[in-house]
Amino acid sequence: MDFEFHFTPEQDEFRKEVKAFLNEHGKMPESLGKLGLEEEDMTREQFEWAKEFRRKLGNKGWYFPTWPAEYGGGGLSSAHEMIINEELSHYDIPGGAGTVRLSAPGLMVWGTEEQKQRFLKPLLQGEANNWQLWTEPDHGSDLAAVETRAIRDGDEFVVNGTKTFISGSFGPPDYFWMLAVTDPDAPRHRNLGAFFFPGDLPGITIQRLDMMVRGSQNMVYLDNVRVPQEYLIGEETNGWQVMQATAEVEHGGAGSIDTEDTLTPVLVDFIKEKGTSHAGKNALMKMYLSEKTNRLIGMRTYWMGQNGKDMTYEGSQNSLVKKMHVWKTGIGTLEVAGPHALLYETAGGKTELAQRNSESTHAGGSPEVQKLIIARRIGLSRTKEKAHVSYVGVNKES
Ligand SMILES: Cc1cc2nc3c(=O)[nH]c(=O)nc-3n(C[C@H](O)[C@H](O)[C@H](O)COP(=O)(O)OP(=O)(O)OC[C@H]3O[C@@H](n4cnc5c(N)ncnc54)[C@H](O)[C@@H]3O)c2cc1C
Repeated sequence: MDFEFHFTPEQDEFRKEVKAFLNEHGKMPESLGKLGLEEEDMTREQFEWAKEFRRKLGNKGWYFPTWPAEYGGGGLSSAHEMIINEELSHYDIPGGAGTVRLSAPGLMVWGTEEQKQRFLKPLLQGEANNWQLWTEPDHGSDLAAVETRAIRDGDEFVVNGTKTFISGSFGPPDYFWMLAVTDPDAPRHRNLGAFFFPGDLPGITIQRLDMMVRGSQNMVYLDNVRVPQEYLIGEETNGWQVMQATAEVEHGGAGSIDTEDTLTPVLVDFIKEKGTSHAGKNALMKMYLSEKTNRLIGMRTYWMGQNGKDMTYEGSQNSLVKKMHVWKTGIGTLEVAGPHALLYETAGGKTELAQRNSESTHAGGSPEVQKLIIARRIGLSRTKEKAHVSYVGVNKES
């Protein structure tokens, strides 16, 4: 019996089309220099090139391949998305799209038809980007306690507050996706509004944060920013519910189909050249297994989401496994390469980056928060919780 997975002839033809497109549009001109390992290394020119590339990809429906075509997606199957991802992984495409993948589910589930055409479509087509304004200096894990206020004044909301750790390069973005208090007197979870508003409104100040890792984080100060009502998504005080569609995806619910393990091969090369201890070889094997587990759980979750399966703990399990993998990679590279792991010269800088990355597991909810969610959803906690509605794509065929 043949257990090998085969693509159909139509999908093989599609791959040829993707290859030809990437061959023509996917190579960043050499004049723009080499791409660094981290988003903060990206130059403005590389950022602009990537923006234009996303636009071309999006206009073919390949930026969000499985999303509905009427909202700017490709209306394609998971197999097509896998082909696009596999082919894209052979190219060095700069990042800088912000957190579009997180706002899109919220807009899809809660936006009016007019809002979806106006905001969601340009996002899925790569025409616009956004940053996510959730975390505040005093409120991270306890997101429902945010203090930024968006108080109604006629047909506008007046926004005041400070947001921190906001991911994004070369601001301002086209849009912000923000959670803020609209009714200070209402009970927790019923006092918040969700807004998707232009990044260039008067009263917004952005300040870059110097971070040990990633480095594309910002402080965003909102000083009497007047946000017209048309940018409110959902009801005035159901922002917490609106943001659950986003949180579900940020907590791993969309899964992933990562295609390439880029670290193991460079570590094998390192060992061949410089050698390592018995413990180092053992550590490499453990990292390799962790990488495979991480990838399989990502794919399992992706498959569940794409096929509309009922999910409870799976997203947070996926996120937790990823975070633990990042952490294990830090320890593992140190065991393999010893002090060399701390040098930029080793393995193209990948081991040094792995050291810093291993200290950064907070993004998208810390490991402890993922554990809490898992506990609630498998019934271990006093708080019983179900997975909230999430939108991760349409499935035409699996
Ligand atoms: C690289 C990076 C990118 C980010 N991008 C964005 C972004 O684009 N937009 C945005 O809004 N935010 C962003 N964040 C912020 C991120 O969401 C927060 O850092 C995260 O939610 C944790 O909040 P905190 O940093 O305030 O930590 P805290 O909430 O202060 O937590 C501190 C520690 O206490 C633990 N803890 C907290 N509560 C509990 C509990 N109930 N039980 C057990 N342990 C607990 C946490 O696990 C953590 O270890 C980013 C962060 C990073 C590092």
